[in-house]
Amino acid sequence: MRSIILMAGFCLLLIGLHGWSLWASRQGELDQTAISTENMARALASHAERSLTVADSVLAEMVERVEQSTTQPVDARRLHARMARITRTSEEVRELFIYGADGMRLATSLPAVLPGSNIDREFFRYHMTHTDLGTRIGKPIFSRSTGVQTIPVSRRINRPDGSFGGVAMASLNLDYFGKFYDSFDVGRTGTIILAIDDGTLLYRRPFNAVMVGTSISNGPVFQTYAKSGPVGTAMMTSRIDGVERLYSYRHLDGFPLLVATAQSKDEILDGWWMAVIKMSCVVVFAVCMLGWGGHRMISQLRVREALESELRAARSALELHNVSLRHLADVDALTGLANRRRFDEVLAVEYERGRRSGLPFSLILLDVDHFKKFNDCYGHVAGDDCLRRVAGAIASGPRRPTDLTARYGGEEFAIILPDTDSDGARAVAENIRCAVQALRLAHEGSSYGHVTVSLGVHTCDQADGTCGAPLAAIEAADRLLYQAKMDGRNRLVAGP
Ligand code: GH3
Ligand code: MG
Ligand code: MG
Repeated sequence: MRSIILMAGFCLLLIGLHGWSLWASRQGELDQTAISTENMARALASHAERSLTVADSVLAEMVERVEQSTTQPVDARRLHARMARITRTSEEVRELFIYGADGMRLATSLPAVLPGSNIDREFFRYHMTHTDLGTRIGKPIFSRSTGVQTIPVSRRINRPDGSFGGVAMASLNLDYFGKFYDSFDVGRTGTIILAIDDGTLLYRRPFNAVMVGTSISNGPVFQTYAKSGPVGTAMMTSRIDGVERLYSYRHLDGFPLLVATAQSKDEILDGWWMAVIKMSCVVVFAVCMLGWGGHRMISQLRVREALESELRAARSALELHNVSLRHLADVDALTGLANRRRFDEVLAVEYERGRRSGLPFSLILLDVDHFKKFNDCYGHVAGDDCLRRVAGAIASGPRRPTDLTARYGGEEFAIILPDTDSDGARAVAENIRCAVQALRLAHEGSSYGHVTVSLGVHTCDQADGTCGAPLAAIEAADRLLYQAKMDGRNRLVAGP
């Protein structure tokens, strides 16, 4: 479970890092574009500023000439020549006009002065009613002399007494701005805007003649300009075509104009989306590989764990089996007592222990009386059963955990009693004899009428050093057992 959580965490971390890196690269893309649109807005503003400065200085010169004509008469021919030269050499100024107070054209850069008053023109009426002498940029108009749409830039002319004396007007070429704006790469759906700061649109790329002169003051650029000041960059959605774009706008320092340029968000993020698709494919592949590898690893771990637990179970079963084997190797199959092999082993150990400690050591040898006759009389199966029951009675004799009761061979049994003196051993032997007798197993061949046992009880006092080897103890007990047989059976004989 922990490995699954670890693997899932790692996959999530990978996906998270990928998401974070994509987000950072998206921001980087937008930031780069913001820098480039800001630079473009600065270039557009500087271009517009330069064009208007040209028109402004031309108008200042015209106004000065006309205003001076009250002291010395204006040379109309020289004035026309000057105006015509200016429009020929200047790309931005298309036509120049000087109107009298009645709106009639007094001089023009055109070859001939057209008849008719311009008193109805918006820019003319403005100067009639306003005394300020600065240059004014008016709403785009269609020229009455050429029919071309232009931007009127005008100045008031005063009489010597300060009263309204007329207007000098330079019409700026919309094509001139159009050509310049078309030289910028703003993508397929980018835009460039030139507008008066009251919201009147002078030019917009892509160009649409119908829109020139309309108000875009409610549009996002002017809304942001009103809130955030003369220079700014923001992601906005156009009210004209509904496209979301990154806009950079800038108000001109010297004129009431605003320029803006923008690139559509979709186009900016085009390349980024391609990178997202490619990188995401790589990450999905990596996550799949990781998941697959992790799954395999976890499966292998599980298999290994299962094998290990099987191995552990097999080992403990083997240990159990070994224990039972050892038990079988030590136990007599018929009676369940310790067998001869175990007896020899324990006798050697306990005998040596007694010798070292100097404590007394006793050994009882026991033989069923007239057992040959029992077999002859009741058969071997009954003989086996008899031996089992006698063994049960013998096993109830010794009490200590260090005592050992063993089947010595045939119908003979032996009891090892470490740290037991002659009296103790005698008591144990008597208990056994009585226990067997108490079984009351019928035995026709015996003078007692039931199964009895004879016992030889040998005790050696290790402290006095009279004991020999374990074999000597067996011989001694056997000798005493023989004595018991000789003395009439169903008894014990004890001795050293
Ligand atoms: P004594 O009182 O002198 O010991 O006479 P005994 O007949 O018991 O002596 P003996 O040693 O001559 O006979 C022992 C008999 O015990 C011989 C054998 O048939 C029998 N016997 C020995 N082992 C087994 C056994 O495992 N099962 C059975 N049924 N009989 C056994
Ligand atoms: Mg015998
Ligand atoms: Mg016997």
